[in-house]
Amino acid sequence: LLRVESVDKSYGDERVLTDVSFEMDRGDVTVLIGPSGSGKSTMLRCVNRLTEIDDGAIYLDGDCVTDADTNVNDLRRQVGMVFQDFNLFSHLTALENVSLGPRRVLGKEKAEATQLAREQLEQVGLGKQLDSYPAELSGGQQQRVGIARALAMDPKLMLFDEPTSALDPELIGDVLEVMRDLVDQGMTMLVVTHEMGFAREAADELVFLDGGKVAERGPPEQLFENPQHDRTAQFLRRLT
Ligand code: ATP
Ligand code: MG
Repeated sequence: LLRVESVDKSYGDERVLTDVSFEMDRGDVTVLIGPSGSGKSTMLRCVNRLTEIDDGAIYLDGDCVTDADTNVNDLRRQVGMVFQDFNLFSHLTALENVSLGPRRVLGKEKAEATQLAREQLEQVGLGKQLDSYPAELSGGQQQRVGIARALAMDPKLMLFDEPTSALDPELIGDVLEVMRDLVDQGMTMLVVTHEMGFAREAADELVFLDGGKVAERGPPEQLFENPQHDRTAQFLRRLT
């Protein structure tokens, strides 16, 4: 479903990604790990063209998404993104945040979009908070609105950039539970997280980025039990 091929990216003189390649089948969960500044967020952002690559190519469902003539709005309709800091509209209720995309982007009628948003919010356990504004919700609830908002677009692929790292420890579990539900439903997910419990149980593959390069990739058992590189072992030892 997703193929990242020899992607290079620099910001000015600073090389951020070098020859990054990996691929995902439909229903795969891939977890990107690596030290701060290793290029994880940049890699995610390249997939939905929030950031432009310098070299290489990225394919979604066989279509090259990094071509200059790719319709970026079409692409973003198919790729949902969940951010560390939620990125909700503060002047809109949970229901309005989730129904906005289906109305504005998918062109659904208000009643249909509202119904869809209600179902998505119920699915993430927020059936009672439909009319709450972000400021009236906990961080964990806001993040679940963020997930519902992405899901309301019926994406092929979901990108998560450290979805729990802005949350108080006691709120992390609810968000991870929603993510596990998505895994069980067969959603294709590319996730940046430091939650190694989630990575270990949910990931089909871990990709360890170090200094913008794929230092090692493989199933979680392999990286945790039998890392091929010292850098991987060091990194995981510090986290677990
Ligand atoms: P973290 O774990 O801290 O979130 P990361 O692995 O997500 O780190 P990136 O955010 O992808 O790392 O950043 C990789 C490098 O690119 C960093 O050195 C960062 O300073 C640089 N960088 C990221 N975004 C930009 C930008 N818009 N302009 C210039 N440099 C940037
Ligand atoms: Mg980041």
